[in-house]
Formats: sequence, C-alpha cells, structure tokens
Amino acid sequence: MSEQLHLAVLLSWKSLAEVESAAKVCVDCALCQSRKQVAFARGNPQAKLMIIGDSPGRNDDESGIPFDGRAGKLLDKILGAANIDAQKDIYICNVVKCRPPNNRPPEKAERLACRKYLKAQLELVKPALILLAGATAVEAILEVKHPISRIRGIWFDGEFGAKVMPVFHPSYLLRNDSKEVGSPKWLMWKDIQEVRKQLDLVTLV
Ligand code: SF4
Repeated sequence: MSEQLHLAVLLSWKSLAEVESAAKVCVDCALCQSRKQVAFARGNPQAKLMIIGDSPGRNDDESGIPFDGRAGKLLDKILGAANIDAQKDIYICNVVKCRPPNNRPPEKAERLACRKYLKAQLELVKPALILLAGATAVEAILEVKHPISRIRGIWFDGEFGAKVMPVFHPSYLLRNDSKEVGSPKWLMWKDIQEVRKQLDLVTLV
C-alpha cells in the first residue's frame, strides 16, 4: 500500500474499534496465511503508558490477545510490583498483529505492511510514555539497530511527542532467570521503577 493510501486509510479511521476491525480481516502481508487470530491490543486505550513488542506468540495467536503467554504474565507481574496495573495503566500491542511462523522475527516488509495499524494506535491512544520491548520494536519505532543491552533504560524523544524507552523483552527475561545485581531482570526492575516515576509525573499533568 502506498504512503498516500496509508494516509487516506488513517484519516478514515475514527476509533480504535474501526482500526481493529480492519486489522482482523487484513491480508496485506504473508502473515495472514498462517495466523489463527489477529492479536490487536489489550489494556486501556486511555492509558498514558503504551508498551510495544515485536509480534504475537503462540498463545496470542490462539487467543487473539497480545502478550497472553508466559512472557506477558511475567511482564504484568513486574509492572504490578511497581504498582502499574496491566488492565488500567497500560495499552499493549505489537509491531505486527499476526504471528510469524515458528516465532521468527517479523520481516521488514511485514513490519511496513502493518505500520498503518500501529501508527493509528499511536495517534488514537496518544500515550505520554512508550516502552519498546525488544530489538524489533526499537528498530521499527526508533529506526536504529543497537543491542537492547546498550540502549535500554534511556529515554528518547518519540515521533508523537511521547518519551520512548527501550527495555528487555519479557521473553528474554524468561530465559535469564538470575536476579543478581546487573542481571537482565535486575536492570528491568530498575527501568520499570524509572517508568513508575515518569508515570506519576505525567499523571499529575
Ligand atoms: S501482520 Fe499486519 S499487515 Fe500482515 S496480515 Fe496481519 S494485520 Fe495485516
């Protein structure tokens, strides 16, 4: 789809429900052939904090809900420990809305084909803070290719006036169980505490 057509589509979507309805019947990339369900988003569309991951996993493909497997539950637990409620305080989605076969990373053409939905979500939710979970989300939004371990925990200026921070993807944390000082889980906890602080500030505005 051309950029002009993208824009025309975006302008015609007035609500997230309309965007989700369009995504649910989308055949704009090859991922439509292997998906069971489109996993569009979960959480609160009024939330100040948006979390963007890479693509739906196996459980998400079955349920149609992003971050619905073990990684999502771990993320909810970490957020909950910082008093960030997964139902009330966040809106969560992925760069692509359909599961790539065998959980491979989404290809650039797939990311571009799906970008209209993510862009519409960003425009309609208007989050003040965005967390990019994993390298694919960082590449898609910030257009940089850096190891997450180098840029996690840093706030960047986002395209929509939001503050944007790369963080570890929770599936990476599942594979790295240590909580020792300097471990990925320890760093993630540090990052989420910083997010909690910023969330308090933007909630006061
Ligand atoms: S991943 Fe996105 S662009 Fe591709 S078929 Fe699914 S909704 Fe459409």
